[in-house]
Amino acid sequence: MSLTRFSDFGTKLCGHSGILQLMDDLGKPLPKDMPSYQLGGGNPAQIPAIAAMYRAQMEKILANGTEFDDVIGRYDAPQGRTAFIEAVASYLSHEYGWNIGPENVAITNGSQSACFYLFNLFSGTYTNGKKATKKKLLFPLVPEYIGYADQGIESGTFVSIPSHFEPLADNTFKYHVHFDLLETYLQKHDDVSAMCVSRPTNPTGNVLTDKEISRLSALAEQYDIPLIVDNAYGLPWPDIIFTENATPTWNEHIVLSMSLSKIGLPSLRTGIIIAKKEIVTALGNLNAIAALASGSLGQAIAGPLIKSGELVRAAKTIVRPFYQEKSDATVGWIKKYCAGGDFAVHKNEGSIFLWLLMNDLAVPTKEFYHILKKRGVIVVPGEYFFFGAPDDGSTPPVEAHPHYDKCLRLNYARPPEEVEQGIKIIAEEYFRHRK
Ligand code: PLP
Repeated sequence: MSLTRFSDFGTKLCGHSGILQLMDDLGKPLPKDMPSYQLGGGNPAQIPAIAAMYRAQMEKILANGTEFDDVIGRYDAPQGRTAFIEAVASYLSHEYGWNIGPENVAITNGSQSACFYLFNLFSGTYTNGKKATKKKLLFPLVPEYIGYADQGIESGTFVSIPSHFEPLADNTFKYHVHFDLLETYLQKHDDVSAMCVSRPTNPTGNVLTDKEISRLSALAEQYDIPLIVDNAYGLPWPDIIFTENATPTWNEHIVLSMSLSKIGLPSLRTGIIIAKKEIVTALGNLNAIAALASGSLGQAIAGPLIKSGELVRAAKTIVRPFYQEKSDATVGWIKKYCAGGDFAVHKNEGSIFLWLLMNDLAVPTKEFYHILKKRGVIVVPGEYFFFGAPDDGSTPPVEAHPHYDKCLRLNYARPPEEVEQGIKIIAEEYFRHRK
């Protein structure tokens, strides 16, 4: 039989990737009858009051003449569903005073695919006449979302700046953008064509401050490049933000990525991009080629809820308190069970994750992951979230970050008994594996 061979695109994207290895392993069943503590993965919690809100909206669609048949029986335009785009533009422009209209909103099948489109629109080979230049996407703060790491079609097009960290009282710390390193990098490299941050950050629960965002935005303007801000956990929905000082920001240099996933609709795959008109047009054109159109159901259900303000009210009064309580409780269990160890937790400012640092862990967290898995506890080892060191040595290799192999990402969305027991086992194994 002949060997199936793939293009460079295929070889790069279908080969080995960190996220594939991780998802593969996460999906492998644990031994039968072993209790499991699922603190890995990125699934949001199912919140009954939120599911009820969507169920009621779906019932309205079903009861309204041919609306259901129309929703499931027609493609929307590649840019998205007109009524939904209008609802999003109108809500955001009224709420935040942003000068946007429907021409500034594009819908994709989840914000993950929006990132894939954007990253490849703004990195890789640019040809001007006979001159070809390879341009790069820069992540101003690692550790950063693992789901970005392998999205470039061409290789060697992502670079990153290691964070610096501020120790805080009570076994807590916070990451900040290392602006000296970032600014020097930008001054010395004219091949950076976009920057991207997640805010709140998956994996750490960090929320870049308003000051940091305005400084990043000023750099984007100075170098005339887009700043992609991934707001999958942010304001105004799903509002999984527990800190002040996290104002949503948009201007013509910012590409704001939003999603309906973390407010309870992950399976309906609805990503929302707010950007200047040329970028929105490009995304619509790309979506036509790659997907024809995006799925309609999430847009049909959420559109009226955005228009009436119910979605944002639910985010503020149900989703945020739900996660805040869980996050605070989990931090409490970490501090209780890890007491006496040399550990710290990233300040829990948002997202559905906590980031646990064990300074004196004797084994790398990739190995610790297997030790925990044997006891039924699933987590994500920290190494995966460090990627993109430049190959010219202008910043240290990612492995040199003092937290590189000492952190775990913990999803705290599961029921409290499961999370507490999982943390207890992590602490037991940590104390067994200290230097
Ligand atoms: N961005 C971040 C930071 C995420 O954590 C995720 C999912 O976990 C996504 C984007 C993608 O979400 P979706 O494609 O479901 O909108």
